[in-house]
Amino acid sequence: MMQLFMPLNFLGFVYREIRGALANIERMFSLLDRQPLINDLPTATTPSITKGALKFEGVSFSYGERQILKAIDFELKPGQKVAIVGDSGAGKSTIVKLLFRFYDTNQGSIFIDGHDISAMTQDALRSAIAIVPQDTVLFNDSLLENIRYANPNASDEEVNAAIEMAHLSAFVKQLELGWHTKVGERGLKLSGGEKQRVAIARAILKGSPLLIFDEATSSLDSHSEKAILTALKEMTQGHTSLVIAHRLSTIVDADQILVLSKGSIVERGTHDELIIQQGLYQKLWTVQHQQS
Ligand code: ADP
Ligand code: MG
Repeated sequence: MMQLFMPLNFLGFVYREIRGALANIERMFSLLDRQPLINDLPTATTPSITKGALKFEGVSFSYGERQILKAIDFELKPGQKVAIVGDSGAGKSTIVKLLFRFYDTNQGSIFIDGHDISAMTQDALRSAIAIVPQDTVLFNDSLLENIRYANPNASDEEVNAAIEMAHLSAFVKQLELGWHTKVGERGLKLSGGEKQRVAIARAILKGSPLLIFDEATSSLDSHSEKAILTALKEMTQGHTSLVIAHRLSTIVDADQILVLSKGSIVERGTHDELIIQQGLYQKLWTVQHQQS
């Protein structure tokens, strides 16, 4: 029995390892977005990142001729939550792409736990960051495997805890095959909100010190929206996190809110401070509250 069991188990392990390597974070961003290959420096380091503290120092960036980000400066301290808001096209996702080093900056530097990200290996950098992307990519596999791949070494308890925290349990209970339901192109189609909760479970399971949350722009059903808001609150509590928000109600509790407009930070402060300033943030807030 043991002899039969071992190789099967081993094959399962290899399969998960291979898929883990293929399914890296790049795939979670837009698949249409072609990125140039960035090479690690021969001297690249693998520092241990434990706090996920983040610093952007005078960061400017252009795609070709077009300048997208202009002298971006901000700091995210350990355990804090910084939010970025701003119109579509303002450059919010580009900030995240630079942080993952899909592109190098034209000017300025980005530091994580005090280490310049361009001096470390991309593996070290990317294992320090967990992202809940705007659009989640699901594989043609079971729901469980879709979550577990974020950390193939996680115990069942850890997987279950992540699922609970992502508020997915009730949804899965309604499915005939439960966790073994196949999803993806050839399986069950999940709604935007359900997909984002799968992404939340993945990010929790990955257990990285820095958490990025890129809020879905597509409208979510109100049940999903509530579940996501609660999950977001729980997962960012005391966890160093950067939240890109479309609904400002998501980020009223942020330690600092950065208002991005045409690639520059034009306002920054807490929700209360920004409301008092009566600038762009206050206008966005008023518009969103008249809608709801
Ligand atoms: P946001 O996330 O705030 O909506 P983005 O950072 O995605 O904004 O985009 C900022 C600007 O950069 C937009 O005008 C967008 O069209 C442009 N842009 C984004 N990705 C690319 C790319 N790969 N090549 C050229 N321009 C891009
Ligand atoms: Mg974006």
